[in-house]
Amino acid sequence: MTRKPIIAIDGPAGAGKSTVARLVAERLGLLYLDTGAMYRAITLAILRAEIGWDFNSKDCLAEISDLLDQTLISLLPPNSTDQPVQVWLNGANVTEEIRQSLVTSKVSAIAALPQVRQVLSKQQRDYGQVGGVVMEGRDIGTEIFPDAELKIYLTASVKERAERRQRELCAKGNQKEIEIETIMQ
Ligand code: C5P
Repeated sequence: MTRKPIIAIDGPAGAGKSTVARLVAERLGLLYLDTGAMYRAITLAILRAEIGWDFNSKDCLAEISDLLDQTLISLLPPNSTDQPVQVWLNGANVTEEIRQSLVTSKVSAIAALPQVRQVLSKQQRDYGQVGGVVMEGRDIGTEIFPDAELKIYLTASVKERAERRQRELCAKGNQKEIEIETIMQ
């Protein structure tokens, strides 16, 4: 093999994908490529640009395409093990900002846009060219790296996943989200 391995971790929300991916990357000295963070970063860029949310409008989609052309997202390894992957958007560190609840509430709609998926999928494949990455996300093992050396589908019981998600939200103080999620269950 000429390049370092690619490890793809897939699975439902709250199964612990990020935690496992981060630990595996740390132990094996690989880059943890948090694809969700990339979708969050582009969502933040769209929010900042104050583009409307009418995805049936050609103008709106054209504005998003222009923005994608002008946007540079980089993921860098954390400085210490207790930090997340550092996310940079056009030269500014947005690691904290992309976790805000406004971004969380909009990211799925943005991630569903074909033009957004196309651009970020390419970037993710580029990161994998040299290998040596641990990637997690719903389409990593199927769409992005179907030939990854190791593919893991990580899951956990619904109870465990719900509790994990609630702990994460509590830690961030997002009481409103906790209530909404509780109602949805
Ligand atoms: O993992 P995280 O919660 O940060 O991901 C944010 C959102 O990005 C997900 O809820 C999903 O809508 C989207 N996403 C995606 N494809 C990926 C990773 C994330 O559509 N590979």
